[in-house]
Amino acid sequence: MFKAILSRIQTHTTPPPQNIPPFLHQLIVRFTGGTTPTGRLIRELGWKYRLFIIISLVANLFAAFSEGLTLALLTIALELLANGDSAITDISVGGDILQQVYESFGFNAVFIGLVIAAVLMQISRSWLDYLAQAAAAYLASWSEGELRRRLLTQYTNLSYTQISRFKLGNLTSYINEVDRSSILVNRINAFVSNLTITISYGLILLWLFWQMTAVVIVGMVFLTIALRRTRSKINTRSRAFMKAYVSINEQFVELLRGIRLIHTFGRQQHVQGLIRTQIDASVRSRRQALTLRFLIPAIIQTITIIGVALFLSVGYFIIQYTNNFDLVPRLATFVFVIYRMLPRVTGINATLGVISESLPFVMRVADQLDLTSQSTALSGEIELATFENEIRFEEVTLQYPNTANPALAGLSFTVKKGQMVAIVGPSGSGKSSVISLLARLYETTAGQIYVDNLPFKKLNRESWLGHIGLVDQDTFVFNDSILENIRFGRLDATQGEIIQAAKNAYADEFIQKFENKYDTIVGDHGNRLSGGQRQRLAIARALVRQPSILLLDEATSALDSQSEQLIQEALDQLRHEKTILVVAHRLSTIAKADHIIVLNNGQVTESGTHKELLAQKGTYHSMWQLQSG
Ligand code: ADP
Repeated sequence: MFKAILSRIQTHTTPPPQNIPPFLHQLIVRFTGGTTPTGRLIRELGWKYRLFIIISLVANLFAAFSEGLTLALLTIALELLANGDSAITDISVGGDILQQVYESFGFNAVFIGLVIAAVLMQISRSWLDYLAQAAAAYLASWSEGELRRRLLTQYTNLSYTQISRFKLGNLTSYINEVDRSSILVNRINAFVSNLTITISYGLILLWLFWQMTAVVIVGMVFLTIALRRTRSKINTRSRAFMKAYVSINEQFVELLRGIRLIHTFGRQQHVQGLIRTQIDASVRSRRQALTLRFLIPAIIQTITIIGVALFLSVGYFIIQYTNNFDLVPRLATFVFVIYRMLPRVTGINATLGVISESLPFVMRVADQLDLTSQSTALSGEIELATFENEIRFEEVTLQYPNTANPALAGLSFTVKKGQMVAIVGPSGSGKSSVISLLARLYETTAGQIYVDNLPFKKLNRESWLGHIGLVDQDTFVFNDSILENIRFGRLDATQGEIIQAAKNAYADEFIQKFENKYDTIVGDHGNRLSGGQRQRLAIARALVRQPSILLLDEATSALDSQSEQLIQEALDQLRHEKTILVVAHRLSTIAKADHIIVLNNGQVTESGTHKELLAQKGTYHSMWQLQSG
């Protein structure tokens, strides 16, 4: 049942109440990070996990109360020990009960009763501490998981245009920075615990000697204010460290992605030099932040020890002067309480230090999750059950963000069902951009694409993608088995269908040569496969989807002429079942296409069949002449 309640809390989200009084709302906003993304995130998670926050707060309060009570009981016990039964009548709170116990059971019973009560209070304090820490641990691990889930959703749902603009190392560093949120939650709990206990000690001290305590409190407040500057310095250094950390992460990821290039060009020293400077900067800011953080307890402890010595001296003189030895137990307790308070006050400042250190990281994650310009991949409502007729580009323009010229400029053409249409043209003419639009990686800037006369943007994304099989130069494969890599094309494909797709892509023959056949693990980035093998795997992955439309963007460019010939034959067989849009560099591979479009600067400059285009003696003719020698 306990587990059921926990999982309900974890998954169940009720929106925060809307009808709270404005002043209360403002107060809450003010003390939970304001209207910044971090503030919003804190309130959202805080509300979701409110039960555990309340448990932790209440447990901390009661723990502090138990601690205070323990000390009060011990002080009374000490006073009784020093002054005998006459002291019982002087006790202001609970004196009556003690008097009754004394009258019924005698002095020893009173003393032992006080000690037992103090012990019970300490035990309950330990368990209340545990309860508060356990609640904080739940909170910490859940908030960490929650942030990871949110990042995961964000990374996968953001539009390709947006996510592709981030550096990979930048994105991965967010995932690592999420740990800081759990450090933060645990530290905040430690802060609350230290603060409540310090307050309870403060009350005890007031009860013992209010004048001296007033001096202590003024001293503490003064000290905390004096240390504010140090904490703000820690914050600045931590932000510098965070920046360096992110940059190092970015560069490491970039380096590892280009490790082959680094080896083949012998650039090890060069890249080491580049990153080392960043590492040095990070070491500096980290060291400064940490040394400042550890400086705080040292300062506090020094000042407190001097304070204790002063109080002892003052107390000693007061006792000498007034000859009032009754004060000795109180003075002893006073010093004892201050001594116990010391680590707590140090703790408050130390936790504030850690909080200052972790906060920049959590703020960065919150900012990332709160990106105001977030655009998720667009999707329409129309489900395309079957592809019946044609794909039509009408005056389509595509301008990539931050570029001067459009990649496609008023492009119009039609692909009829069952046709094989080829797009050719010089590099940079916009061929891949046509494919990217159809794969919904980018949105048209102007003009419209129609599929069976339906506006492309209104089609449901998933339902459209279900109709297409895409093979491009990015033959990315996961470091998994060949079987699973092909299955990625259609998750419910049977083993038989996977093998058939591999056969159609002429991949089966090389797969059979591996010892583990379809269970062979392809290695990182598929490094156990040759370029041509990876390409055939990518073709099998597209074919297993049983798409009605095949989009091939230089899909056979990495193949040797023999494999290319085989793939060509396979595609010829598929021609009449499928609609094929193919971008090809080698014109020999598309000479048989029903229709060929020649692109230049994002516009159609020529179009027709191979024969017609040769007869036109234009760009296509000269490209053909060049390639056929
Ligand atoms: P092709 O496939 O014919 O070589 P592309 O469609 O890849 O041409 O590119 C057409 C133009 O668009 C080029 O000028 C290229 O630099 C630019 N381009 C392509 N992709 C992007 C992108 N993601 N961001 C900015 N510009 C791009």
